[in-house]
Formats: sequence, C-alpha cells, structure tokens
Amino acid sequence: MATHNLLMLPGDGIGPEVMAEVERLIAFFNKRGPAKFETSSDLVGGAAIDKHGVPVTDEAMAKAGQADAVLFGSVGGPKWDKVAYDIRPEAGLLRLRKDLDLFANLRPAICYPALAEASSLKRELIEGLDIMILRELTGGVYFGEPKEMVTLENGQQRAVDTQLYTTHEVERIAKVAFDLARVRRKKVHMAAKWNVMRTGVLWQQVTAAVHKSYAPEIAYEPILADNCAMQLVKNPKQFDVVVCDNLFGDILSDEAAMMTGSLGMLPSASLGAPDAKTGKRKALYEPVHGSAPDIAGQGLANPIATIGSFGMALRYSLGMVKEAELIDKAIANVLGQGLRTGDIMQPNMRKVGTTEMGRAIETELARLAG
Ligand code: NAD
Repeated sequence: MATHNLLMLPGDGIGPEVMAEVERLIAFFNKRGPAKFETSSDLVGGAAIDKHGVPVTDEAMAKAGQADAVLFGSVGGPKWDKVAYDIRPEAGLLRLRKDLDLFANLRPAICYPALAEASSLKRELIEGLDIMILRELTGGVYFGEPKEMVTLENGQQRAVDTQLYTTHEVERIAKVAFDLARVRRKKVHMAAKWNVMRTGVLWQQVTAAVHKSYAPEIAYEPILADNCAMQLVKNPKQFDVVVCDNLFGDILSDEAAMMTGSLGMLPSASLGAPDAKTGKRKALYEPVHGSAPDIAGQGLANPIATIGSFGMALRYSLGMVKEAELIDKAIANVLGQGLRTGDIMQPNMRKVGTTEMGRAIETELARLAG
C-alpha cells in the first residue's frame, strides 16, 4: 500500500477545529485503504508566534519541504494584531508559499445542486457549475520592481507598481493549465489584456506556443480579462480552466468562487514546479477562509472548505482521483440530505456544528466506498 506523508498545519482560530475533521477522514482511509497516510503536525501563525516568536520555524519549513503535501488551516486573529509586521501570522503562510515556490494557485468554483438557491445567480446558470481559476501566484504586479511612492517637487505624490513577467513564468503556469484541462473538460481560456498591456501580449504569445507544442488536443481560447469577468456572471458554465496573471487571478477567482456560496465552502491548492527526479510538485492545500475569530472555539465552523482542500490533495498530489471524487460526492449528498452549518443555513434545513458535519461526511463516504 502506498504511504503518503502529510504535514498538518492547523494554525489559529477555527483552523484546528476544521482540520480535526480532515484528520477524521485520514483515519478513515488509514483503516480502509487504498493508501496509508503518515502525518506530522506543527505550529503556524499566531500559535507559532506564541511558542517560538516566529510565525513558522525553520524546522516546520524543513518538514514542509519533505512532505508529499502540506495541509494548512488558517492563521491570524485579534490577539496578534499588534505584532511586528514581518512576524505577523500571515507571514508564515507567505513564507511557505515563497520558499516552496508555489507559483500556481488553483481555485475551483463548484456549485453543489443543494446550494444552487443560495447563489446570487439564477439556478439554471449556476447549478452543476465546476470551473477552475488558475492564478499565477509569485510574479506580476504584486512583486515587480520598481514599486514605490515618491513625493515630486510640486508636492504631488507619484506611485508606481510594475507588472513584469518572463517567458519562463508564463510557460510553467500555462503547462499547469493544460495539465488540469487534460483531466477535466479539455478547455483552457487565457484571460489577459493584450490590447493595452505588453505583459498581456507576452501571455498571449507564450500560452499559444505552449498550447501548440504541449497540448494541441486541448481547446484553447484567449479572452480579454474584462470580458472574462462579464462572461463569468453571464454564462459561467462555458468555462473549464481559466488561467491568468496574479492580479486578474486575484479578482476573477473571488468572483467565480463567491457565485457558488459561502467562504466556508471554498477549497484551494497552491502548486510548485515538478521535482526533476520524482516529477512530484511541492503543494499546499488550504481553505480560502481565514481564522474566523468571531466563531472560533464554538464548534460552529463549516469544515467543508478544508475537507474539499484535502480532496484536492488526493487528486493533485497523491494520485487518488477516485477517492477525491468520493469525497466530493459525500459532501454533495450530505448537503442534499439537508445538513447545514450556520454559514450556509437555509429555511427547513437542519443546522449542525463542525463535528456533526464532519461525521456525516465520513458516514456518507463509508457508504459510497461500499
Ligand atoms: P474570515 O474568513 O476569517 O471570516 C470572514 C467571515 O466568514 C466571518 O464572519 C467568519 O465567521 C465567516 N467564516 C469564515 N470561514 C468560515 C467557516 N469555515 N465556517 C463558517 N463561517 C466562516 O476573514 P476575516 O474575518 O477577514 O479574518 C479573520 C482573521 O483571519 C484575520 O486575522 C485575517 O488576517 C485572517 N485571515 C487568514 C487567512 C488565511 O489563513 N489564509 C485568510 C484570510 C484571513
């Protein structure tokens, strides 16, 4: 039986509560197969600041570098609002992303049929939606130099951000997009502004070249990023994988995800380059939400985003696609049975807490696995 090494970083606030429900599923698979998980855990965020004075230690970073996948909860909270900027809780997550060079951020937008009514879009537009926004995470305007604000002689201020990409940066994310499309519905849109931005021209040229040489069997279509934003609310099901730069990806992934429900439902993955020897990518999986201090410690948090992130780890890091599908199906069925945490509560549904939701998903998983 294959053994997978996972590093669990539950973090702060609701992080440990939702991660406990992932541990429940790990125990389930360890008992039933088809693979075995060896887990270790460490502190991150405020919990690491309290114990070690830094939001992530070198030892935890070394474990993250060795793991087949890192499962991350959430960090931060009012307790650490006043710590120095460079050791704030979020700096732990940023260090993980930077040191592991996690350049590809996968944000699925999936609409479970039972939650279609909760969307701000009409049911027929959203029901059954399953798209993937792929955001370049380590380059572009958030990092390009010069990045400055200067006072001019006339007293005005001038601010500069620099959007900067190289062929290599676009090529590697384009390959991830085509790899994802291969195991999905075989369609990639590349969203950029090649009509007004030189980096947009580079994105269009490089992704078209990668399409031709790397994945000619996949449908490929460049789309202007502003049009993509409109099409996402007009007819979202036309998309499969949408790849874009850091800035457009930040916006389009939030737009796509929020069409489908609460923060408590949204998983994500961040992947690095394949290892030259093993072909394995460094990877970190985390819910999109934060530490939710307003409900932390009360057993109210929705664990589905974190369970969904574990499902993504099975699919994208561990080759357990069938089990990932079973988890998705178990979540859909439990929602179909009317169970709801407070954040997704609807009339005539049964309100449950974190543990009850996790247990129900495990029970359904066991039933589906036969
Ligand atoms: P948040 O995502 O923690 O919470 C926003 C709202 O959504 C809250 O009302 C919360 O109760 C609700 N919510 C979030 N996740 C939920 C879940 N699983 N189930 C039910 N309800 C849920 O964002 P915030 O309030 O802006 O930030 C709180 C703290 O989290 C801050 O310290 C912030 O810096 C940090 N944060 C961390 C991350 C991360 O770890 N990746 C991301 C965002 C924010």
